[in-house]
Amino acid sequence: MTRAGLLGDLIACLGQAHVLTGADAEPYLTDWRQAVTGRALAVLRPADSDEVARVMRVCAAAGVPVVPQGGNTGQVAAATPDASASAVVLSLLRMNRVRAVDLDNDTITVEAGCVLQAVQEAAAQAGRLFPLSLGAEGSCTIGGNLATNAGGTQVLRYGNARELALGLEVVTPQGRIWHGLRGLRKDNTGYDLRDVYIGSEGTLGIITAAVLKLFPLPRTQRTALLAVPGLPQALQLLQRARAGFGAGLTAFEVMSLACLQDVTRAFPQQRLPFAELPEGAWCALLEISDSEDEQHAQERLEAVLSAAMEAGEALDAAVSVSGAQSAAFWHLRESITLALARAEACVKHDISLPASRIPDFVRCTDEALAAAYPGVAMRVFGHLGDGNLHYNLLPPAGAPQADIQRLVHDRVHEAGGSISAEQGIGQRRVQDLQRYKSEVELDLMRRIKQALDPQGLMNPGKVLPASPAGALP
Ligand SMILES: Cc1cc2nc3c(=O)[nH]c(=O)nc-3n(C[C@H](O)[C@H](O)[C@H](O)COP(=O)(O)OP(=O)(O)OC[C@H]3O[C@@H](n4cnc5c(N)ncnc54)[C@H](O)[C@@H]3O)c2cc1C
Repeated sequence: MTRAGLLGDLIACLGQAHVLTGADAEPYLTDWRQAVTGRALAVLRPADSDEVARVMRVCAAAGVPVVPQGGNTGQVAAATPDASASAVVLSLLRMNRVRAVDLDNDTITVEAGCVLQAVQEAAAQAGRLFPLSLGAEGSCTIGGNLATNAGGTQVLRYGNARELALGLEVVTPQGRIWHGLRGLRKDNTGYDLRDVYIGSEGTLGIITAAVLKLFPLPRTQRTALLAVPGLPQALQLLQRARAGFGAGLTAFEVMSLACLQDVTRAFPQQRLPFAELPEGAWCALLEISDSEDEQHAQERLEAVLSAAMEAGEALDAAVSVSGAQSAAFWHLRESITLALARAEACVKHDISLPASRIPDFVRCTDEALAAAYPGVAMRVFGHLGDGNLHYNLLPPAGAPQADIQRLVHDRVHEAGGSISAEQGIGQRRVQDLQRYKSEVELDLMRRIKQALDPQGLMNPGKVLPASPAGALP
C-alpha cells in the first residue's frame, strides 16, 4: 500500500483533524528527557475504542507498526518511534472520559487517556481516594501508568498500578476488542490476561479503559521531613515507622542532601526547613494517613519521631502543620527529577533491592564508582519503603556512560535486585534486559510476544529487540 493510500484509510477511520503529519506531529516524536527523537508516518488521535480497533485493523492489514502513547512522560523513551518513519504513533489523549463510578463496589472505570490527576480528582469528588501518585501526575495517563506498571510514592501502602487495576479493556494488534472491564476482586477463571498487559509497555496491545480500585479518603494526613545521619539510620527509622503506624504509614521516601541542594539551587523559592546539616546527611519524608482525628495523628507522629530522635536515627524533624506545608515538603521531593533534568550528563538508574541490602549496596557502589571515576558526584533518592532507589550520578567529563551503567547494574544483579524497578525497559534498557534476564525468562517473554503480536507490529524495539515482521524476536 502507498503512504497516501494508508493515510486515506486512516483519515476514513478518524477524520482528517485527528491524523497529524508534519509540524503538527512533532510534539509527539521526542521523549520526555529530550534524548530521543523519532519519526512517524502519522500521529493518530482516536476518540473511542471502536476507532482504535478500526485503526489497528488498517495497520495490521498494511503491516504498519504502532507506537501507543499516553502523556509521554516515561523515562525510557518507550513511547517514541524509531527513526525509520515507518510507524504510526497512536495517542490516547482524546480518550479521557470517566465511564462510571460504583461506590458500593469502590471502583471507578476510566478511559486510558484520562490524566492521573483527573482520576484522583474524580475519585475525591465521589468521596474516595485513588492512591496512585507520582511527580508526573498532572500529565501522565492511566493507560501509560498501567502499561508501565507505575509505582510512585504510595506503593508502600497501596501497591503498584498493577495492584490498583481490577479489569481492562484492550484492543489487540489485530483490531479485536477484549472487554475485560470486570470490577471483581476475586476471579480465578484461567490465565490472568490483565496481568499480561499491565507492564507490557505497549508491546502486546492497546489498553483503552480500566476498572480501578478506590479507597476511603483518610480523615487526617500528616507529613514529616526528617534529617537523618545516613541510610542505615533511615532504614532503622523505616522499621520504627512501620511498627508505630502500621497500615497508616502511606509513604517513606529518602533523598540525599545533595539532591535537595540541587532543588533549592534550581528553584530558589523552595527551602529546606533545617539549619546546616552535616555533609553526607539524608532526608526522609514520611506520610501517615489516619482514620481518627488530627490530634490522634499528631500524637502518634510525635511519639514515633521523638523515639527516633532519642535513638539517634534522626538529627532534626519538621512536621507539617497545614496542607500547604505538607505540599511544600512533597514539592521538594517531586522537584528532584526536574532539577536533575537540567544536569545534562546525569546518569540514571532505577533500581530495586531488598531494603535490608540498600545501605551496603549504596556504600560499596559509591566507593567503587569514586575509585573508577574520581570526581563523580552522587544524586541518590527514592522510595526506600519499596526498596527502590533512583541511583543517579553526575560523572566527571569524558567518563563513558555505558561503562558506568554496566558497573552499577552488574552490582544490582549480583545483589539479587532489579535494573528497572518502576520505569520499565522501553528502548533505553533493551540490551540490559538481554544481559540480566535468564534465557528461560527471555524465551517465555518472546513466546508471549509471538502469540499476541505475531506480526511484531506493537511498539517494536521496546522491551525486546525489534525483529523482522513475523519472526520470533
Ligand atoms: C517528573 C516525573 C516523575 C516521575 N515519577 C515516577 C514515579 O515516581 N514512578 C513511576 O513509576 N514513574 C514515574 N515517572 C515516569 C512516568 O511518569 C510513568 O512511567 C508514567 O506511568 C507514564 O505514563 P504516560 O501516560 O506518560 O505514558 P507514556 O510515556 O506515554 O508511555 C509509556 C509506555 O506506555 C505505553 N502506553 C501508553 N499508553 C498506553 C496504552 N493506553 N496502551 C498500551 N500502552 C500504552 C507506551 O507505548 C510506552 O511504552 C515520572 C516521570 C516524570 C516526568
